Amino acid sequence: MNQETKTYRKGEIPGIIAINARECKGCDACKRFCPTGAITGMFGTTHRVDVDRCISCGQCLINCPFGAPYETVDPVDEVAAKLADKHVTVVGIIAPAVRVAIGEPFGMPAGSLVTGKMYSAMKKAGFVILDNNFAADLTIMEEGTEFIQRARHALFGEKAEHGGGIGPLPQFTSCCPAWVRFVETNYPALIPNLSSAKSPQQMAGAVAKTYGAAQVFNVAPESVYTVGIMPCTAKKFEASRPEFQSAWHFTKEKGGSAPSAPYPDIDAVLTTRDLARLLKKMKINLAAENDAEGGTLFAEYTGAGTIFGNTGGVMEAALRTAWVVLTGTPLSKIEFTAVRGLKGVKSAAVTLRDRKYGKEVTVKVAVVHDIRANIRPIVEEVMAGRSPYHFIEVMNCPGGCINGGGQPVCDTGSSWIGRVLPSFAWS
Ligand code: SF4
Ligand code: SF4
Ligand code: SF4
Repeated sequence: MNQETKTYRKGEIPGIIAINARECKGCDACKRFCPTGAITGMFGTTHRVDVDRCISCGQCLINCPFGAPYETVDPVDEVAAKLADKHVTVVGIIAPAVRVAIGEPFGMPAGSLVTGKMYSAMKKAGFVILDNNFAADLTIMEEGTEFIQRARHALFGEKAEHGGGIGPLPQFTSCCPAWVRFVETNYPALIPNLSSAKSPQQMAGAVAKTYGAAQVFNVAPESVYTVGIMPCTAKKFEASRPEFQSAWHFTKEKGGSAPSAPYPDIDAVLTTRDLARLLKKMKINLAAENDAEGGTLFAEYTGAGTIFGNTGGVMEAALRTAWVVLTGTPLSKIEFTAVRGLKGVKSAAVTLRDRKYGKEVTVKVAVVHDIRANIRPIVEEVMAGRSPYHFIEVMNCPGGCINGGGQPVCDTGSSWIGRVLPSFAWS
């Protein structure tokens, strides 16, 4: 990409989505779905993506009727080569939303849940399984704990245990890289409000190359090659961010045999579409596979990790953690149904007793998906200091990651959610 960019750091991929000028009809359809106004071009002329405004969400790609937008990064051949190398442990990190979409390119109905078949197909291809639901559980513990710390600081003046600062409320979730880049490029004053917890993909990569290498795979960290299997194009951008080299820093600090040049926590990201191409290239028919188990510690997970792929899932999982930690009692009813569903902005208030301070607190939360339609009033309220919320989940894509920019594309250019949930109403 020769375009000059102003908003990317050294090493970062400057935009995952571009438009093929030969295929673009200038119909303007993509502009309706772009959350940032990054697509330029007059009606009837070739359109292009302004990479500095783009957050790499891929919504233009899955909604173009002519298949003109494409991904600039295609790691399928590189991953195939690593799978063929017997000296490399290739870890496939499978996001929750992939397992309900990957059946479709193999002729199964949209929405089929194929976790066992996917494990089997990927093991046949040579992957070791790390279910990203495992890492989603780690994220929940980190993000929930951070929220409790921020809330106790704001409500009771509690100081950080090991010194240092405590972020402000409301706390925003940080697991959607398109949302994180949206904040960085549009509302930088709100960066401290983003949770400092890494996304499940990045936690998974760091864990695989540290604890995983030493305790689970019994290999050197540098021989572990981590592959995010994601419903998301923005995850390719996320993996290239220079702060995500934690395993290399950790190994070096512990005196391990780290090479002089840092290696990333995630080496490659395959979208759901990419994984289908890889398996087909290897002549593996996922639909014909029998169900298999993940087969490692990293394939264990809770229901909280599973619901991450839906809008409201991160919040519901974090609320469960906050409840148990703050009250010290198990939940009698595990579901927080107020944050479920496809409404653009959902809110809930949960009153509980903080056992440490012996006081009742009411936690107000909001869940937002589809940045394009729903985010501006929420962030402007926060900027003005008028937000009633303590914790806000934001997912860029309409419906959350199940409708991510890396999911299968319909020939007529309608995104996945429109086919699986025909009643879904675009705002
Ligand atoms: S929707 Fe597709 S064909 Fe239409 S302007 Fe956008 S990229 Fe071009
Ligand atoms: S990837 Fe997302 S932000 Fe970028 S041009 Fe497409 S719709 Fe807009
Ligand atoms: S909502 Fe999910 S799929 Fe969409 S950009 Fe965010 S992380 Fe990616």
